[in-house]
This record gives sequence, C-alpha cells and structure tokens, in this order.
Amino acid sequence: MRTQRQVVDYSLQKRALLRDVHNGKIGTLEVCDASPYLKNAARFHGEPTDDRCPICRRDNLTLVHYIYGDELKQSAGQARKLTELPVLAMTLREFQVFVVEVCQSCSWNHLIEQFLLGRDAMSADELLEGATAVAASASGRHRETGSSSHRREGRQ
Ligand SMILES: [Zn+2]
Repeated sequence: MRTQRQVVDYSLQKRALLRDVHNGKIGTLEVCDASPYLKNAARFHGEPTDDRCPICRRDNLTLVHYIYGDELKQSAGQARKLTELPVLAMTLREFQVFVVEVCQSCSWNHLIEQFLLGRDAMSADELLEGATAVAASASGRHRETGSSSHRREGRQ
C-alpha cells in the first residue's frame, strides 16, 4: 500500500532470534507459541505467503494483520484481511497495523512489521511534501552575515 507511514521493520530482530534458535540458545517451544486465537486469525483472516516456515519447514507462513486505533472502538485489536485494509484506510483517519507471521503447523510466530494507515496519513504526507518543497525553493538558505565574520584578533 502506498499510504503506509512510519513503517517499522522487525526483520533484524527476527533474524537474530532465528540465529539463536538454530544455535540452540533458545528452544523451539519458546518461539513456537502462537495462541489459539492467533492461529484462528491466521486460518480465517490470514494472507498466505510462499515463504516456508523457518522452524519446521513443513508449512508456508501466513501473515496476520492486526489493527489498533481509537476510531476502531470495539474492533481495535482485531485481525483483518489484507484486502480490507485499503477500505479502512479511506474511511478512518488513522490506525496502526501490526503484521505477524504465523506457521499453522508448528505455531512459530513473530511480529514482522508495523505501520500507520488512514486518511490523515495520506493528506499529512502530501501536505508535508508540499510544504518542504515550497520552503526549499522559496526561502533559500538563511545566511549569517556579519557577526560570524568578525575575527577575534590579538588573543593573549
Ligand atoms: Zn512451522
């Protein structure tokens, strides 16, 4: 989606965790702890991927999109299908999306990304872009002339 803002990518954390699992520092039971709710969300609202589960390699990962925000009221914290997000983004001013990958075989799960969506995000970005472009072209660079050119001479 073009309107994603403030994207936070958790792939580094995920890689570090997987490294520890493969080194045996962390047991697979500790990372394969998807709750029944999360697995249900994956089954009913999840977005299938072509990526194999990094732990069991039996199943492909499913992405679950959780939405949070004041405007969502009782829907806050619910999982939504990816296709529902653009519609929400047009009707709501702003909401947060958390993307979790889940393996439905072994219960591996990890937060992979979070970002903001919504009408506000769109217009705010456009406004900001417009404003910085105008400021850059109109004002030029403010130069300090005078005081900074005075050299202090005859130091002792
Ligand atoms: Zn798995």
